[in-house]
Amino acid sequence: MWIDTHCHLNLPEFDTDRDEVRRRAEEEGVDAAILVGIDLETSRRAVQLAGRDPWFTPTVGVHPHDANSMDAETVATLAELAGSAAAIGETGLDYFRMHSPQDSQRQAFRAQVDLARQLEKPLIIHCREAREDLLAILKEIGGEHRGVMHCFSGDVEFALSCLRLGLHISFAGPVTYPKSDVLREVVPEVPEDRILLETDCPFLAPQPVRGRRNEPAYVRFTGEKVAHLRGVTPEEIARVTSQNARDLFRIPDPKETV
Ligand SMILES: [Zn+2]
Repeated sequence: MWIDTHCHLNLPEFDTDRDEVRRRAEEEGVDAAILVGIDLETSRRAVQLAGRDPWFTPTVGVHPHDANSMDAETVATLAELAGSAAAIGETGLDYFRMHSPQDSQRQAFRAQVDLARQLEKPLIIHCREAREDLLAILKEIGGEHRGVMHCFSGDVEFALSCLRLGLHISFAGPVTYPKSDVLREVVPEVPEDRILLETDCPFLAPQPVRGRRNEPAYVRFTGEKVAHLRGVTPEEIARVTSQNARDLFRIPDPKETV
Protein backbone atom coordinates (compact mmCIF):
# COMPACT_ATOMS: atom_id res chain seq x y z
CA MET A 1 0.00 0.00 0.00
CA TRP A 2 2.75 2.52 0.94
CA ILE A 3 6.10 3.21 -0.73
CA ASP A 4 8.93 4.76 1.28
CA THR A 5 10.66 6.82 -1.41
CA HIS A 6 13.69 7.73 0.68
CA CYS A 7 15.33 5.46 3.22
CA HIS A 8 18.90 4.70 4.23
CA LEU A 9 18.70 1.03 5.23
CA ASN A 10 22.06 0.81 3.45
CA LEU A 11 23.69 2.59 6.43
CA PRO A 12 25.54 0.66 9.17
CA GLU A 13 22.79 1.73 11.65
CA PHE A 14 20.76 -1.18 10.25
CA ASP A 15 23.52 -3.80 9.93
CA THR A 16 22.36 -5.83 12.92
CA ASP A 17 18.61 -5.96 12.20
CA ARG A 18 18.01 -4.98 8.55
CA ASP A 19 15.89 -8.09 7.86
CA GLU A 20 13.63 -7.44 10.87
CA VAL A 21 13.23 -3.78 9.89
CA ARG A 22 12.23 -4.85 6.40
CA ARG A 23 9.77 -7.45 7.75
CA ARG A 24 8.11 -4.87 10.04
CA ALA A 25 7.73 -2.53 7.07
CA GLU A 26 6.02 -5.22 5.00
CA GLU A 27 3.70 -5.99 7.92
CA GLU A 28 2.71 -2.30 7.97
CA GLY A 29 1.89 -2.44 4.26
CA VAL A 30 5.07 -0.93 2.81
CA ASP A 31 5.31 -2.48 -0.66
CA ALA A 32 8.66 -1.03 -1.71
CA ALA A 33 11.45 1.19 -0.43
CA ILE A 34 13.96 3.34 -2.25
CA LEU A 35 17.46 2.87 -0.87
CA VAL A 36 19.30 6.14 -1.21
CA GLY A 37 23.08 6.40 -1.59
CA ILE A 38 24.91 9.32 0.02
CA ASP A 39 28.48 8.52 -1.10
CA LEU A 40 30.17 5.87 -3.24
CA GLU A 41 30.23 3.27 -0.49
CA THR A 42 26.54 3.55 0.43
CA SER A 43 25.59 3.80 -3.25
CA ARG A 44 27.38 0.51 -3.93
CA ARG A 45 25.69 -1.00 -0.90
CA ALA A 46 22.27 0.16 -2.15
CA VAL A 47 22.86 -1.50 -5.53
CA GLN A 48 24.06 -4.70 -3.82
CA LEU A 49 21.12 -4.94 -1.41
CA ALA A 50 18.61 -4.27 -4.17
CA GLY A 51 20.29 -6.89 -6.34
CA ARG A 52 19.41 -9.50 -3.73
CA ASP A 53 15.94 -8.18 -2.87
CA PRO A 54 13.62 -6.47 -5.37
CA TRP A 55 11.64 -4.90 -2.49
CA PHE A 56 14.47 -2.33 -2.56
CA THR A 57 15.06 0.13 -5.40
CA PRO A 58 18.56 1.66 -5.32
CA THR A 59 19.81 5.16 -6.09
CA VAL A 60 23.39 6.40 -6.36
CA GLY A 61 24.72 9.81 -5.41
CA VAL A 62 26.99 11.98 -3.31
CA HIS A 63 25.34 14.00 -0.52
CA PRO A 64 26.28 17.71 -0.23
CA HIS A 65 28.01 16.87 3.08
CA ASP A 66 30.51 14.83 1.04
CA ALA A 67 30.68 17.16 -1.93
CA ASN A 68 34.41 17.81 -1.47
CA SER A 69 35.07 14.11 -2.16
CA MET A 70 33.62 14.51 -5.65
CA ASP A 71 36.05 14.47 -8.58
CA ALA A 72 35.95 13.22 -12.17
CA GLU A 73 36.63 9.68 -11.00
CA THR A 74 33.69 9.80 -8.60
CA VAL A 75 31.41 10.96 -11.40
CA ALA A 76 32.63 8.09 -13.60
CA THR A 77 32.00 5.55 -10.83
CA LEU A 78 28.53 6.99 -10.19
CA ALA A 79 27.76 6.73 -13.90
CA GLU A 80 28.83 3.10 -13.86
CA LEU A 81 26.77 2.25 -10.77
CA ALA A 82 23.81 4.20 -12.15
CA GLY A 83 23.19 1.47 -14.71
CA SER A 84 21.47 -0.50 -11.93
CA ALA A 85 19.97 2.52 -10.15
CA ALA A 86 16.56 4.19 -10.38
CA ALA A 87 17.78 7.73 -9.68
CA ILE A 88 20.75 10.01 -9.11
CA GLY A 89 21.04 11.34 -5.55
CA GLU A 90 20.88 12.22 -2.94
CA THR A 91 22.52 15.36 -4.12
CA GLY A 92 21.81 19.02 -3.50
CA LEU A 93 23.01 21.86 -1.29
CA ASP A 94 23.24 22.14 2.50
CA TYR A 95 24.40 25.55 3.75
CA PHE A 96 23.17 24.75 7.27
CA ARG A 97 25.66 22.09 8.29
CA MET A 98 28.25 23.14 5.70
CA HIS A 99 30.35 19.97 5.95
CA SER A 100 31.73 20.86 2.50
CA PRO A 101 32.44 24.37 1.19
CA GLN A 102 29.61 26.01 -0.79
CA ASP A 103 31.65 26.07 -3.94
CA SER A 104 32.35 22.33 -4.00
CA GLN A 105 28.70 21.66 -3.08
CA ARG A 106 27.55 23.64 -6.09
CA GLN A 107 30.02 21.83 -8.37
CA ALA A 108 29.04 18.38 -7.11
CA PHE A 109 25.34 19.22 -7.47
CA ARG A 110 25.77 20.51 -11.01
CA ALA A 111 27.73 17.40 -11.98
CA GLN A 112 24.97 15.13 -10.68
CA VAL A 113 22.19 17.12 -12.36
CA ASP A 114 24.15 16.77 -15.62
CA LEU A 115 24.62 13.05 -15.03
CA ALA A 116 20.90 12.54 -14.38
CA ARG A 117 20.15 14.38 -17.64
CA GLN A 118 22.59 12.27 -19.62
CA LEU A 119 21.33 9.00 -18.22
CA GLU A 120 17.65 10.07 -18.25
CA LYS A 121 17.23 9.31 -14.54
CA PRO A 122 15.27 11.32 -11.99
CA LEU A 123 17.08 13.32 -9.31
CA ILE A 124 16.77 13.07 -5.53
CA ILE A 125 17.49 16.54 -4.16
CA HIS A 126 18.36 17.66 -0.64
CA CYS A 127 18.12 21.38 0.16
CA ARG A 128 18.83 23.09 3.43
CA GLU A 129 19.13 26.87 3.68
CA ALA A 130 20.29 27.06 0.08
CA ARG A 131 17.10 27.48 -1.90
CA GLU A 132 18.23 30.46 -3.99
CA ASP A 133 21.45 28.85 -5.21
CA LEU A 134 19.71 25.55 -5.79
CA LEU A 135 16.92 27.05 -7.89
CA ALA A 136 19.47 29.16 -9.77
CA ILE A 137 21.50 26.09 -10.76
CA LEU A 138 18.43 24.17 -11.91
CA LYS A 139 17.17 27.16 -13.90
CA GLU A 140 20.56 27.72 -15.47
CA ILE A 141 20.80 24.10 -16.61
CA GLY A 142 17.28 24.63 -17.89
CA GLY A 143 14.49 22.50 -19.30
CA GLU A 144 12.18 20.28 -17.29
CA HIS A 145 13.79 18.56 -14.30
CA ARG A 146 12.50 15.11 -13.40
CA GLY A 147 12.98 14.23 -9.75
CA VAL A 148 12.01 15.01 -6.19
CA MET A 149 12.68 17.66 -3.58
CA HIS A 150 13.12 15.16 -0.79
CA CYS A 151 12.09 15.76 2.83
CA PHE A 152 10.53 19.03 1.76
CA SER A 153 10.97 21.67 4.44
CA GLY A 154 10.15 25.01 2.83
CA ASP A 155 7.07 27.18 2.43
CA VAL A 156 4.39 27.34 -0.29
CA GLU A 157 6.43 29.77 -2.40
CA PHE A 158 9.44 27.45 -2.53
CA ALA A 159 7.19 24.46 -3.25
CA LEU A 160 5.64 26.29 -6.20
CA SER A 161 9.11 27.12 -7.57
CA CYS A 162 10.10 23.44 -7.34
CA LEU A 163 6.86 22.33 -9.00
CA ARG A 164 7.37 24.82 -11.84
CA LEU A 165 10.79 23.26 -12.50
CA GLY A 166 9.08 19.88 -12.89
CA LEU A 167 9.98 18.39 -9.51
CA HIS A 168 7.86 16.26 -7.20
CA ILE A 169 7.55 17.14 -3.51
CA SER A 170 8.15 14.47 -0.87
CA PHE A 171 6.98 14.78 2.73
CA ALA A 172 8.74 13.13 5.67
CA GLY A 173 8.38 13.03 9.47
CA PRO A 174 8.72 16.81 10.06
CA VAL A 175 5.19 17.34 8.67
CA THR A 176 3.95 15.65 11.89
CA TYR A 177 5.96 17.88 14.27
CA PRO A 178 4.05 20.45 16.36
CA LYS A 179 6.09 23.42 15.11
CA SER A 180 5.77 22.63 11.38
CA ASP A 181 2.77 24.87 10.59
CA VAL A 182 4.45 26.53 7.60
CA LEU A 183 5.29 23.12 6.15
CA ARG A 184 1.75 21.83 6.73
CA GLU A 185 0.40 24.74 4.64
CA VAL A 186 2.31 23.29 1.67
CA VAL A 187 0.62 19.87 1.81
CA PRO A 188 -2.75 20.75 0.19
CA GLU A 189 -1.00 22.89 -2.47
CA VAL A 190 0.87 20.02 -4.16
CA PRO A 191 -0.94 18.57 -7.21
CA GLU A 192 -2.07 14.98 -6.76
CA ASP A 193 0.36 13.64 -9.37
CA ARG A 194 3.45 15.27 -7.77
CA ILE A 195 3.24 14.20 -4.14
CA LEU A 196 5.41 11.53 -2.52
CA LEU A 197 6.05 10.12 0.98
CA GLU A 198 9.25 9.03 2.68
CA THR A 199 10.87 8.37 6.05
CA ASP A 200 14.50 9.50 5.44
CA CYS A 201 15.24 6.84 8.06
CA PRO A 202 17.18 6.42 10.32
CA PHE A 203 16.62 10.18 10.74
CA LEU A 204 13.53 12.28 11.53
CA ALA A 205 11.10 9.76 13.06
CA PRO A 206 7.49 11.05 12.91
CA GLN A 207 5.92 12.55 16.04
CA PRO A 208 4.31 9.36 17.48
CA VAL A 209 7.73 7.64 17.51
CA ARG A 210 9.93 10.76 17.66
CA GLY A 211 13.35 10.26 19.22
CA ARG A 212 13.59 6.64 18.10
CA ARG A 213 15.61 5.37 15.17
CA ASN A 214 13.26 5.88 12.23
CA GLU A 215 12.38 2.99 9.85
CA PRO A 216 10.19 2.41 6.76
CA ALA A 217 7.32 0.93 8.84
CA TYR A 218 6.75 4.46 10.21
CA VAL A 219 5.98 6.00 6.80
CA ARG A 220 2.27 5.55 7.55
CA PHE A 221 2.41 8.16 10.35
CA THR A 222 3.48 10.74 7.77
CA GLY A 223 0.99 9.35 5.24
CA GLU A 224 -1.90 9.62 7.71
CA LYS A 225 -1.00 13.24 8.54
CA VAL A 226 -0.72 14.17 4.85
CA ALA A 227 -4.08 12.47 4.14
CA HIS A 228 -5.73 14.42 6.97
CA LEU A 229 -4.30 17.74 5.73
CA ARG A 230 -5.60 17.04 2.20
CA GLY A 231 -8.98 15.83 3.42
CA VAL A 232 -8.66 12.34 1.95
CA THR A 233 -8.39 8.86 3.47
CA PRO A 234 -5.02 7.27 4.25
CA GLU A 235 -5.88 4.55 1.69
CA GLU A 236 -6.34 7.20 -0.98
CA ILE A 237 -3.06 9.01 -0.20
CA ALA A 238 -1.25 5.65 -0.12
CA ARG A 239 -2.67 4.77 -3.55
CA VAL A 240 -1.81 8.14 -5.10
CA THR A 241 1.71 8.45 -3.66
CA SER A 242 2.60 4.85 -4.50
CA GLN A 243 1.47 5.33 -8.09
CA ASN A 244 3.56 8.53 -8.31
CA ALA A 245 6.59 6.70 -6.90
CA ARG A 246 6.15 3.84 -9.40
CA ASP A 247 5.87 6.31 -12.28
CA LEU A 248 8.80 8.53 -11.28
CA PHE A 249 11.25 5.79 -10.29
CA ARG A 250 9.89 3.09 -12.64
CA ILE A 251 9.24 0.63 -9.83
CA PRO A 252 7.34 -2.32 -11.29
CA ASP A 253 3.86 -2.90 -9.91
CA PRO A 254 3.74 -6.51 -8.65
CA LYS A 255 0.11 -6.80 -9.81
CA GLU A 256 1.21 -6.09 -13.38
CA THR A 257 4.25 -8.35 -13.48
CA VAL A 258 2.36 -11.50 -12.35
ZN1 LIG B 1 18.45 11.18 2.99
